[in-house]
Amino acid sequence: MSDFLPYTVKDLERSLSTIERQIYSRIGDLEITAWRTSEPVPFDQRCSGQELHLRVGDKWGDLFDCAWFRFRGEIPGAAAGQPVVLLLDVNGEMCVVDDAGVPVRGLTTGTSVFDFSLGLPGKRVLPLSPDARGGEPIEVWADAGCNDLFGNLQGNGTVREASVAFCHAETRGLYYDFEVLLDSLAVLPPLSARYQEILVALNETASLIRGEFSAATVRQARAILAPALAKRGGDPSLRISAIGHAHMDLGWLWPIRETKRKGARTFATALANMERYPDYVFAASQPQLLQWMKEGYPELYGRIKQRVAEGRLEPQGALWVECDTNLTGGESLVRQLLHGHRFFRDEFGADVRYVWLPDTFGYSAALPQILARAGMKYFSTQKLSWSLINTFPHQSFHWRGIDGSAIPVHMLPEETYNSPAAPRSAGKIEANYRDKGLSEHALMVFGIGDGGGGPGEEHLERLARLQNFAGLCPVQQEPAAAFFERWAADAARFATWSGELYLERHEGTLTTHGRNKRANRRIEQALRELEWLAAWAEMSCGVPYPSGRLDAIWKEVLLYQFHDILPGSSIKRVYDETTPRYEALLAEVETLAAGRGEALAGHIDTAGLARPVAIFNALSWERTEWLIVGDGWRRVAVPPLGYIVVDAADVAEPTHEVHAAPDRLENDRLCVRFGEDGAIVSVLDKPAGREVIASGERANRLAVYHDPGDAWDFPMDYAESAPRIMQLVAAEARVDGPRALLTQTYRLGDSIVVQEISLVAGSPVLAFAARATWREREAMLRVAFPVTVRAEEAAFEIQFGHVRRPTHRNTTWDLARDEVAGQKWADLSQRDYGVALLNDCKYGHKVKGHTIDLNLIRSVPYPGPQLVRDQDVAPGEPHHGYTDQEEHVFSYALYPHAGDLVAGDVIQAGYQFNVPLRTVETVGHPGAAASRGSLLQIDARAVIVETVKQAEDGQGWIARLYEATGSAVKCRVSFTVPPREVSKVNLLEEPLATLELQGNTVELAFQPFEIKTLRWQ
Ligand SMILES: [Zn+2]
Repeated sequence: MSDFLPYTVKDLERSLSTIERQIYSRIGDLEITAWRTSEPVPFDQRCSGQELHLRVGDKWGDLFDCAWFRFRGEIPGAAAGQPVVLLLDVNGEMCVVDDAGVPVRGLTTGTSVFDFSLGLPGKRVLPLSPDARGGEPIEVWADAGCNDLFGNLQGNGTVREASVAFCHAETRGLYYDFEVLLDSLAVLPPLSARYQEILVALNETASLIRGEFSAATVRQARAILAPALAKRGGDPSLRISAIGHAHMDLGWLWPIRETKRKGARTFATALANMERYPDYVFAASQPQLLQWMKEGYPELYGRIKQRVAEGRLEPQGALWVECDTNLTGGESLVRQLLHGHRFFRDEFGADVRYVWLPDTFGYSAALPQILARAGMKYFSTQKLSWSLINTFPHQSFHWRGIDGSAIPVHMLPEETYNSPAAPRSAGKIEANYRDKGLSEHALMVFGIGDGGGGPGEEHLERLARLQNFAGLCPVQQEPAAAFFERWAADAARFATWSGELYLERHEGTLTTHGRNKRANRRIEQALRELEWLAAWAEMSCGVPYPSGRLDAIWKEVLLYQFHDILPGSSIKRVYDETTPRYEALLAEVETLAAGRGEALAGHIDTAGLARPVAIFNALSWERTEWLIVGDGWRRVAVPPLGYIVVDAADVAEPTHEVHAAPDRLENDRLCVRFGEDGAIVSVLDKPAGREVIASGERANRLAVYHDPGDAWDFPMDYAESAPRIMQLVAAEARVDGPRALLTQTYRLGDSIVVQEISLVAGSPVLAFAARATWREREAMLRVAFPVTVRAEEAAFEIQFGHVRRPTHRNTTWDLARDEVAGQKWADLSQRDYGVALLNDCKYGHKVKGHTIDLNLIRSVPYPGPQLVRDQDVAPGEPHHGYTDQEEHVFSYALYPHAGDLVAGDVIQAGYQFNVPLRTVETVGHPGAAASRGSLLQIDARAVIVETVKQAEDGQGWIARLYEATGSAVKCRVSFTVPPREVSKVNLLEEPLATLELQGNTVELAFQPFEIKTLRWQ
């Protein structure tokens, strides 16, 4: 040992770099040819693009260009007997393929502009020959994308490196020995003997290699470090399970088509590393990604299946994609589980019973029940570690939902799904694990993710040294499912968290890319109606249920609910592609639904009617509404999940007591007064004799706040600065049958909002149907209704129920939940009276004090049209564009009601605002069906049928019901077409119990917010 002071850690880091530079010795260059295309082409068309002959330093493409690269050369004679590798970096991502075009390894640019904390994703080494003879020709083909892991590209698509090199295996071994020991110093107590022992060994090694770097000194250095590496830990108080992973954003800073290629690169790398590291276990979530592998890379998929069968590759999490859970509807969440679980079961024989959502922006309080009723046992995430205000108190806990169901949750203590699997990772897990006294187990998820890639050699070399490293918690690789089983043994001791897992961040994603969100709401409602009509049409008319098409349509809809697509945090190209697809899907669903409506109408006895029209109601209660039938308005009462036939020739237009003027809309229920600026100054509830709008305040002002945020976030204090108010430029009133209408046109700069405000005879729903031409920048359009209601909590619809949230900011937890998710409505009620705000496609709500506020449009720059961040644009330069600068269509409605939200039928009003009645014109004909009919009837208003569909296995029919008010309810369900058998199944349609059938009826008892699924045939 030297008499001098030990090296500092910085000196030792320099020694580590010295070792790293000696791992590979370049011995030759490769000839580079590329064939560039703007979109990917398959291997057999690899030479179809523009041919480029390239050298290192040459540019080959722009962002998202594609190219097939060919690298040619010869192994130099000097390499005889040595392991030879190629070093390839084209400043993009590449997938190296074999002679048949099958992926063998993913390579990634050494630079990434987004996140250097992941470490340099330097997958640039392609092992070529473990034992070269010299003189062998080299020809390697690779499919390249001109993007890095995070879409954006630093270096402009230029070739960085293409060479032949020796790999000095001993030096590589020394590098990882040294790196792991050095990193452990960041965790071990400096005064411990263990720390000092390692420091001394590193010092000796550093001195040695500084004197001479040769094969002999490398061997000697490893011998010096070996005893320190070999020290074993004792009886640990915490064990870490490690699982390899590549978090894959299915569309984000790159188009969806690139994700498919990212998948091939990632799986090829994982499979290649499995050959080299026998204890390596890799987990892949999202069946959608595997489905793409099956379609696009069948040979690779075959090898994936083989590794799954061996237990080395774990099918992970039961959701079809890692979806959003604030905006995604209830039935969609069920289908995410249904299709996800079925894929893994059918393709791999795997029964996955846990849910994996590491990156989604907050978790709905409906999830514990949905998971539990789908037979899921565990849930995992880490995202709440991103909250900006409060520290979530647990990482192993029970999560209780609105119905009381609870599910054990593990929140990764390392707070990342991109662990470097280094000593500092083990150190962070131990230090940060808030429930370590209760549980001896924690999960580490290692690899490089977001843009895929997954674990590299570095992760696996480190883990080989950390299995039982004295001074650190032992780390063993194993499937996440095995971890959960072991960890759950301590679950009885875990604390419980009740209600939503609110992410105190990313509230802007409830609003950004409004057009896309509207499309999701519309397709969810359209599929709901189609499935009910299609089930009924097959049952009663023999029209085949379109199960194949529904399967495909649903899976595409589920894909677009991915946690960067539906929330609006992807680049514009993603939405440019989803928009026409949603249009096509909506058109197809409408065609299928219209056909079923016609078939059902054709079965009804309409003989003797001059112009028969069948009116269908997809909701599970009778609705009485005004609508246009033929040439005139009719008020019709349509049975639940049923129809009624009316004769359009038989119109006796009544006179309606409705009035419309630029300053007043009035019917028998409400009198609404508008100020000169167009804002509402008064809403008088006539039967209740109450003023609804707070005295001296104005409602429905179109307020534009400065929003300097991005797709995810806006400043919490945005409302501290006064908004700009859109100016009324025209107001036109008219009466159309039973409807009083006021059309207001507002302007601000180049933006225009036209609102058609309407009030229909007999209804207290004041509806606002808006069309906007939006041109603002850094702007957030909101509308607010200050009302005369006093309540400490407001209610918001979520999937299969609702949640209550405080209307005050008493604690930091209340303060943080300022902008919150709601589905079809938000409601502020006191015991005797309340006001709801309904919507047809908006989600970002704020109810504080006595004001109900809704976020309508956000136009923000990043990751907008050109993927630019504000700081990347020089002052004075034109910006490349903002989100949502386009045409918008949306509706909302003010709904004052007597009593609370249940007495006031707010839940039903929300559905009715989103699900119009369907009219089908037919002719007079005989038929088997009566002029009024219903598929199902329920005798309790609190129980709602969310879904009627064919069973996934084609055996019988499914109805999904839930208690919507938060009460214990007994009810009877009556089937119009007599069933042979009715049973209870879970959300995956697995049998639970047979129900007693009394005639055509079964009796059900619901607990508050309980979901029940029935199968009948
Ligand atoms: Zn993600």
